[in-house]
Amino acid sequence: MIKDIATPARTREILDKYGFSFKKSLGQNFLIDTNILRRIVDFAGLSDTTGVIEIGPGIGALTEQLARRAKKVVAFEIDQRLLPILADTLSSYPNVCIIHQDVLKADIRSVIDKEFKDVSDIMVVANLPYYVTTPIIMKLLTDALPIRGIVVMLQKEVADRISARPGTKDYGSLSIAVQYYTEAETVMNVPRTVFMPQPNVDSAVIRLVKRDKPAVEVNNESFFFQVVRASFGQRRKTILNNLISHLPNGKQLKESVEGTLTDLGIDPRRRGETLTIEEFAALSNSLAKVFCEKA
Ligand code: SAM
Repeated sequence: MIKDIATPARTREILDKYGFSFKKSLGQNFLIDTNILRRIVDFAGLSDTTGVIEIGPGIGALTEQLARRAKKVVAFEIDQRLLPILADTLSSYPNVCIIHQDVLKADIRSVIDKEFKDVSDIMVVANLPYYVTTPIIMKLLTDALPIRGIVVMLQKEVADRISARPGTKDYGSLSIAVQYYTEAETVMNVPRTVFMPQPNVDSAVIRLVKRDKPAVEVNNESFFFQVVRASFGQRRKTILNNLISHLPNGKQLKESVEGTLTDLGIDPRRRGETLTIEEFAALSNSLAKVFCEKA
């Protein structure tokens, strides 16, 4: 039986053997609790025909748990110092492939085409580097990758924003962007004590299940996201004031914007955070006629 990497003693032993020092700037907080790792893997629903993409394998704590349950694991790691360590700690897992690259610069689709020819489904599973969680998640969603879903650990505060419902303080443009592409839920809160070194924020695991098609039908995706961002421009402002302040030529088009809101049954005095994704879709489809024709 191979010893798990994710125990405090084994992790310390590996770090000492290689004289490894953590880089805070790369979000290096390694997991040292095997039970938490197993639960993360459980949430991903892997089988021996699943291909897994991991981001930031560190010294391989999560990677080895994934390798035991999936057909193949492809992991992107930015820190070159970790490559010889991973070659050592994961030497018993021939189904792991480490790619030395910044995941934000990676062409993930061609990696999938090359590495996952004979898998039945693809999941992204990771303990994300906290300084880049949002750009990584948005890249995974907007690159239209053939993945079934994403199970990742991240800051609790970001997890709360991603899975927030309308009318709550955490609901905002990130909630809508992620929920447009996926069904999002926070599945586990995680204490700081299971990391080495301990981060100074709380953590959580979210599960995003990709929708077959986006949650709502919009005529112009980029305008939809522009309307959403504008609506949350300043949280204390009404939807009308935010839209006219943050959309181009908004002030000149105030009357049309107000008329559009009223026609849709959306009180112009409401705040952006009270609108459902369906209301945002209807609003952007109607406002596109005002803004795109008059632009
Ligand atoms: N998976 C390991 C674990 O759970 O113990 C390590 C997780 S640690 C929170 C984040 C990892 O992401 C580190 O290994 C770090 O070097 C790596 N990393 C940071 N930025 C990255 C990027 N842009 N692309 C790929 N890997 C990155």
